[in-house]
Amino acid sequence: MASQYEVEHNVRLAEPPSNTRRINMSSFFSLLHRVTDSGTNTPHNNPNATPTLPDVANIFRLLQDQMQTLAATAPTDENRSFLLDLVSSLEDDINDPPTRLEGVGQEFLDALDRVNRKKLGQEDDCAICKIPYLEDQYCLVVELPCKGRHQFDLECVGPWLRSKGTCPMCREEMGKKKAVVVDNDGDEDDMDMIYA
Ligand SMILES: [Zn+2]
Ligand SMILES: [Zn+2]
Repeated sequence: MASQYEVEHNVRLAEPPSNTRRINMSSFFSLLHRVTDSGTNTPHNNPNATPTLPDVANIFRLLQDQMQTLAATAPTDENRSFLLDLVSSLEDDINDPPTRLEGVGQEFLDALDRVNRKKLGQEDDCAICKIPYLEDQYCLVVELPCKGRHQFDLECVGPWLRSKGTCPMCREEMGKKKAVVVDNDGDEDDMDMIYA
């Protein structure tokens, strides 16, 4: 007895407002891909991919937009000042863009340690978006190879890593470590992964 009118699709037209604060960075990535010539290994091995300064400045501007937008709706003062700190540190890159991007390649992101959901607590959240990881059933959390082993949503930290190449939290440079950390220099935090 349901009338045809009730089965319209338009109920699904608008996605339910998701509670994520993650920013769509697609224009960032399309510009990045253009500039880095599709991210082949290290940019400095690729002399053909010399980005123009305005392009580089734009990459940083888009990244700054991401942080600015998040800061505008920051749920805590701490989060806001963290984000605004990132925003202001990007100001120099925009005004005086480096001749080549210091960021890591896509393969670096692909190789980052994924944090298993089972190891995440209800309270654990991403320092960038402040959303508890477990609120997103598809969360993809990565651990950076910095000393603090800082964790973020891959989606949140990806653009920063690709363009800045540092941990947003402690600003440790990732580029030098390349790939995944196999040998940690000195510190003996050799998890539970002994050679099989
Ligand atoms: Zn996040
Ligand atoms: Zn860090």
